[in-house]
Parts: sequence; C-alpha cells; structure tokens
Amino acid sequence: MHELAHLHFADADASYEDARYAVFGVPYDGTTSYRPGTRFGPRAIREVSFNFESYEPSTGIDFFEVPVADLGDLEVSRLPEDLVDQVADVAGDIVSEGKVPVMLGGEHTATIGAVRAVQPEVYVVCDAHLDLREELGGTPYSHGCVTRRVLDTVEDVVIIGARSGDREQFEIAAERTRLYTADTVRDLGLNAVLREVREHVGGRRIYLSIDADAIDCCLTPGLGTPEPFGMTPLDIREVVRTLAPYAAGFDYVEVAPFDAGQTAAVAAQVVREFIARHWIAEQ
Ligand code: MN
Ligand code: MN
Repeated sequence: MHELAHLHFADADASYEDARYAVFGVPYDGTTSYRPGTRFGPRAIREVSFNFESYEPSTGIDFFEVPVADLGDLEVSRLPEDLVDQVADVAGDIVSEGKVPVMLGGEHTATIGAVRAVQPEVYVVCDAHLDLREELGGTPYSHGCVTRRVLDTVEDVVIIGARSGDREQFEIAAERTRLYTADTVRDLGLNAVLREVREHVGGRRIYLSIDADAIDCCLTPGLGTPEPFGMTPLDIREVVRTLAPYAAGFDYVEVAPFDAGQTAAVAAQVVREFIARHWIAEQ
C-alpha cells in the first residue's frame, strides 16, 4: 500500500483500537490577537515528523513499535466556546477508552477542552504568557484566558517560563498558582525547578501543556505571539522528559510555522519525547 505521507504523524500507524496514544490536530486560530497562522501548526508538525528516525537513542525505543494512532484534524467550529466543547468531546472519548490524548495546536484555546476531558489533579503549563485574563476580545475562551479557565476546575496549577501578563494577572498567579517565571528558571536552574515541581506533583495525575512561545522567539520564531528572553528547546525537552510519566494528557500548541521550520521541528521532537518517556515509564 502507498504511504500517504504527511497526513499523519510519523510512525503513528496503530489502529485506534490498539493505540495507547491518540494524536489529533486542532487547526484553530479563531481568537488570535496578534499574528494568525497557528491553524497551520498541526500540518507543519506532522510534515517535519517524517524527518526524524524512528529510533530514539536516549530511550532505546523504536517509534513504530509504540502503539500511536493519529486521528487527523478536528473540523473546527468558528466560535471558541464551540471549539472547546468539540475538543472536550474528542479528548473525552480518548480518555474514557483508556488512551492518552496528544493534541497538536492550533491556538492554546483548545487546551481548555482537553483539560476538561482529562480532569487532572495538577495542570502544568509552559508558556511565555500567564493566560490569566477573565476575558479577551469579548470571549472568556480566548487564547489569553486559558490558564484562567483551567483554574475554574483545577485548583492546582503550575506555570513555568512565563514573562508576560498585566499586573492583575501576576497578582492572580501569585495567589492561585505556582509560578516559575522565565527569570526564575534562569536564576534557580531548570533542574532545581523541576525537582520542586516533581515533589509538588508527588505522583498525582497531571495534564501537561506546552505553549510553543515558552521558548525564546529568537530560537523558534514561528509563533503567533512571540516573546524573547524565554526558555530553550532543551529546557522544554527536559520538562517533558521529567513530567511525561505523570501525564494523562499532553498538548503542544501555538506553532505558527512561518519560519525556517525550526518551531515545528522542536514541536515534533517534543511530542515524540512525550510519547517515548510516557511509554517507557509504563513498561
Ligand atoms: Mn498560552
Ligand atoms: Mn503564550
């Protein structure tokens, strides 16, 4: 049979029935406030995933041996509240069938629905932005409100790598979240931060969300809302290596692939890293 390349994530060849991991894309950028284009993120991440070897040397796994299915992209609604419901439905089916949802964005809004489905005990997010606005652009489901909406249902929120938000959001973050700003990560060192986070999580179920703009825009410029002075791709990989074993759901969002391909390449490798680290922890 001919390989229909790029329509699915590389090596995500398991049937849905057999899959432990269900990848799906959410090509939505309906509330984007600055530079649109994250709707093209899932496609770019899948395309570049074919660039990488199936063998992953640090874990010794071959990806074609891991049961991963790619369900394709959601046909997205226009309104963000409908989009959130759609994602919650799809992720809810995946979770109720004992699988781990792995979502490719698209803007961060989709995460609200995935978290609703997974119902984690702790939400861990890497993001340049606090995303703690009550509403933005006339909707409480904007990409700028994601962490605020998560706080409606998840009490325990950890933010890593933030460096942007208004005064009120930083006050909310101080009061209601564990915030490790990008500067804090730099001052303490990522390993010390991750030691603390892992102790805090203490084996509880987490949802892990990576907003691509957590990484410094000088390193991965394919972003809808670029911010400098951020984390590195290696930092994000380390966060995922450390926390993947505790995660019941994962996403990599906010890739707007108008660069030399580096932002999607990092995303694809970090997605693989998540699957590899989660999988070996279970074996
Ligand atoms: Mn975000
Ligand atoms: Mn962001």
